[in-house]
Amino acid sequence: MRLIAGRKDVEVIAGGTDLVTLLRDRVRTPARLVDINGLSLDGLRWSRDGVRIGALCRNAVDDPRLAATYPVLVRALRSGASPQIRNRATFGGNLLQSVRCPYFRQPEFACNRREPGAGCAGIEGDGRLLGIFGTSASCIAVHPSDCAVALLALDATVVAEGPRGTRRIPVGDLYRLPGDTPHEEHTLHDGELVVAVEVPASPLASRSTYVKFRERASYAFALASAAVAVHSEHGMVRDVRVCLGGVAPKPWRAQAAEHALRGRRLDEATIGAAAEAATEGARPRPDNAYKVELIRGVVRQALTDLREN
Ligand SMILES: Cc1cc2nc3c(=O)[nH]c(=O)nc-3n(C[C@H](O)[C@H](O)[C@H](O)COP(=O)(O)OP(=O)(O)OC[C@H]3O[C@@H](n4cnc5c(N)ncnc54)[C@H](O)[C@@H]3O)c2cc1C
Repeated sequence: MRLIAGRKDVEVIAGGTDLVTLLRDRVRTPARLVDINGLSLDGLRWSRDGVRIGALCRNAVDDPRLAATYPVLVRALRSGASPQIRNRATFGGNLLQSVRCPYFRQPEFACNRREPGAGCAGIEGDGRLLGIFGTSASCIAVHPSDCAVALLALDATVVAEGPRGTRRIPVGDLYRLPGDTPHEEHTLHDGELVVAVEVPASPLASRSTYVKFRERASYAFALASAAVAVHSEHGMVRDVRVCLGGVAPKPWRAQAAEHALRGRRLDEATIGAAAEAATEGARPRPDNAYKVELIRGVVRQALTDLREN
């Protein structure tokens, strides 16, 4: 902690699967790199309240209890990257990975996220892969993490430790919308480290799933994804989460879809209405308007899978 406290020019490295590429391409140029792999931040700790996942726990985590208790999380993890990358990548790094916008990743293009005030080449350029919710006139990139979308659906909390002590940050509050300051990607303070993710025990957790639409069947980021968790009583949806990935600068909670589901039977008509409601507020461009239809598709698929279970 001493090595990173109060230092803006220091970056920590965990699995390195994202950061090393950014260093190589000179997208990130920290004065100092601190390797956190020697810290005891690995493993899962179960309690009556849920599970605490160490920040250095690898994305390839293979734990039958995790898969049974939080299917949405394990499906999201397994849909990401490749087995080799998942063996190396960590929970902390996955949540804090940088956007995959091609204009951000190539320093020859203008990018407000990389260089405040430089402009956004993506807005003028090819926006096929970019966002349709929560974007701004400064940035239209999407957050790439599958795991973060699942954790949002599970009401998970990030545990951050820094010079001023320990804080618990709901996953939904970990990311900032770009607004005029897209370079401020998350709400961690300088010198704060993610040490764990806490996933609560919840009646929503076990009936949950993740559906991801991508260009290839594996080794590709989401064009659109849905993490959905449902708790029913007497055949009626009592509580539900519908969260979207690949479409916004942060994991996106589709509250209108949740509203369309609460208090209703999970039948075809309700599923259709929820899939439509999930697109509420979308502001697509002509080149990424296809994502609106993808959202309908992934939400419909996730709810149908949960209905049949
Ligand atoms: C080809 C390829 C395909 C991929 N496909 C997917 C995909 O489909 N879905 C998906 O979700 N991801 C995908 N990824 C991304 C991959 O999951 C991330 O690169 C990985 O999860 C990052 O974890 P890491 O431990 O390697 O992070 P690092 O590269 O070490 O770090 C990433 C960032 O997180 C910060 N950081 C790391 N740990 C902490 C911590 N504990 N506290 C604070 N900050 C921290 C680092 O400073 C850095 O800024 C893909 C990556 C590649 C290369």
